[in-house]
Amino acid sequence: MAQRVGIYPGSFDPPTNGHLDIVERSSRLFDRVVIGVGRNLSKKTLFTADERVALMKDACRKWPNVEVRSFDGLQVAFAKECGASFIIRGIRALSDFEFEFEMGNMNRRLAPGIDMVFLMTAPEYLFLSASRVKELAAFGAPVDTFVPANVAKALAAHAGQGGLRTGATESND
Ligand code: ADP
Repeated sequence: MAQRVGIYPGSFDPPTNGHLDIVERSSRLFDRVVIGVGRNLSKKTLFTADERVALMKDACRKWPNVEVRSFDGLQVAFAKECGASFIIRGIRALSDFEFEFEMGNMNRRLAPGIDMVFLMTAPEYLFLSASRVKELAAFGAPVDTFVPANVAKALAAHAGQGGLRTGATESND
C-alpha cells in the first residue's frame, strides 16, 4: 500500500511545545512526516532558517518517521517534492481557522490531489505562540515550560546578546 506522507509547514521561529504536540500526533497518523521550515518568509525571524531547522531536528529526534527540511515557495510545491498528499496545520483559535481556511482553499485550487489536515491544539497549548515565547525570553522570563530544552537554551543565548535582533517584528503566529 502507498505510504501516507504529510508535510507540516511553518516558520517555527522557534519551535514550541505546541508545534511538537502536532508533530507527535502527526507521526502517529502518517507513515512519514516532513516538517517544512519556511526559508523565505515575509516576516522577519529571530532565528535564521538554518538555526530553525537545527532546533527542530534536535527536538524531533525521538520520532523516527519525522524528518526536517527547509523550503522556499509554495506549500503545495513542497508537498509534491516530498511525495506528500497531505498538508498538516495546527489550529488554535478562530483567528487561526480563518487564515487556514483561506489558505486551504487556495491550496485546493492549486493542487486538488493534496488534502489539508487540521489538528486541533491540545488545550494546554491553546494560548502558546512563538511570538509570545520570544517576547518572554527577551525580557528574561523563564520559557522552559513552553519550549523544548534546546530552544530554551538558544533563546537564553539570544537574550544574552541583547534580546531580539534589530528589525525583528511582531507576527501573528
Ligand atoms: P506559520 O507562520 O506558517 O503560521 P508557525 O510556525 O507559526 O508558522 O506555525 C506552524 C503551524 O503550527 C501552524 O499551523 C500553526 O497554526 C500551528 N501552531 C502554532 N502554535 C501552535 C500551538 N500552540 N498549538 C497547535 N498548533 C500550533
